[in-house]
Amino acid sequence: TGTNAPRRLSIFGSTGSIGQNTLDVIQQLGGRESYEISVVTGNENVELLAQQARSTGARLAVTANDSKYRLLKAELSGSGIAVAAGAQGLAEAADIEADWVMAAIVGTAGLAPTLAAAGKGAVIALANKECLVSAGDLFVEAVLNGGGLLIPVDSEHSAIFQSLDENQRHAVERIILTASGGPFRTWSRAEMANVTAATARAHPNWSMGLKISIGSASMFNKALEMIEAKHLFSVCPDQIEVVVHPQSIVHSMVGYTDGSIIAQLGSPDMRTAIGYALEYPHRPKLNVERLDFAKLSRLDFEAPDERRFPALRLARTALERGGLQGAIMNAAEEVAFHAFVDERIGFLQMADIVEAVMDRMAGTGGAHSMDDVFAADAEARRLAAELVAVNEKAA
Ligand code: NAD
Ligand code: MG
Repeated sequence: TGTNAPRRLSIFGSTGSIGQNTLDVIQQLGGRESYEISVVTGNENVELLAQQARSTGARLAVTANDSKYRLLKAELSGSGIAVAAGAQGLAEAADIEADWVMAAIVGTAGLAPTLAAAGKGAVIALANKECLVSAGDLFVEAVLNGGGLLIPVDSEHSAIFQSLDENQRHAVERIILTASGGPFRTWSRAEMANVTAATARAHPNWSMGLKISIGSASMFNKALEMIEAKHLFSVCPDQIEVVVHPQSIVHSMVGYTDGSIIAQLGSPDMRTAIGYALEYPHRPKLNVERLDFAKLSRLDFEAPDERRFPALRLARTALERGGLQGAIMNAAEEVAFHAFVDERIGFLQMADIVEAVMDRMAGTGGAHSMDDVFAADAEARRLAAELVAVNEKAA
């Protein structure tokens, strides 16, 4: 675009936790005075989606849910805002010109529209880690081939991105992902066995969507983040460490060959990472809570326990096996997560099912194309669903 034209932004998943935080950041930075909003997308909550579309003056509003099309159309009648729905609607969303796309759809549902937008050369601010875990290097390649840039929004990966000095890439020894440990950090496996989704979703520090909240409790979120880190920063699996840090103040760190550790710190507020991704390479002025070190008084760190949280061990296995294991782990985890939320399986069975699917599919070939990824994803979902059903019968 011309030098003075406002940047055009698309928000995929605008109605979610990251999406709403993104709109708040945009508002803080001048809203319609500063940017042009191309697209907002949601799923079930079309009232919120319509309200967002009106207040941002978006060109197009898309609900991923076909059955909500008429409702959204009615909500936006007379606004001049175009409306679309379903997979076709998400394809349209990706096709509208945008300079910057917030990829904040949850799960693998975000893969196709994000890839399509990346193919058009947009800067991709990536919150939707599942699409990177699943498609791995193919996803990174697609973004780079499209001429765009991939900027992580996940707080840990934003912290690493901010702590990585491009001129010192050869001197990076390790990256250290911090993990809050979630609500069950100190619980025994016996105590975790009977927890409900309502207990599991109550995160001590962050307010987030349902899937990532449950993933924080099981540490599957950290498992996905380990694989996300490998693809984003092209490091070897043994250069990725996880340390539990209950306060969520140190968002992650990079260790260099001279023994230095560079970390990024801040309040647990996603708007810092979102703002960084939006204004990169500059830092915006944001109204988020400032750290008061005197009040903090202490920061704790402890080793993660892979026996109580097998998800971390499974991430190591996926990293060692490589190929399509990321896609397989991700797909199985999505199925297991839904089964847990629907009270079809217990909390600990999520990892059992993911592990069984990963083992059964350990011999699957490499990830040579997106078709390989989609096929492995479908097969892993089928197997996981089968195991959920078997489990249910046994219970
Ligand atoms: P959320 O559940 O609050 O929002 C998800 C968004 O995706 C909503 O807009 C929803 O309408 C949309 N959506 C749901 N199902 C869909 C489908 N089938 N097709 C298309 N759209 C669909 O989730 P969230 O917490 O905002 O997380 C979004 C992504 O960001 C996830 O990948 C998550 O791991 C990642 N992330 C979130 C946080 C956080 O603080 N919330 C932090 C780091 C990373
Ligand atoms: Mg994170």
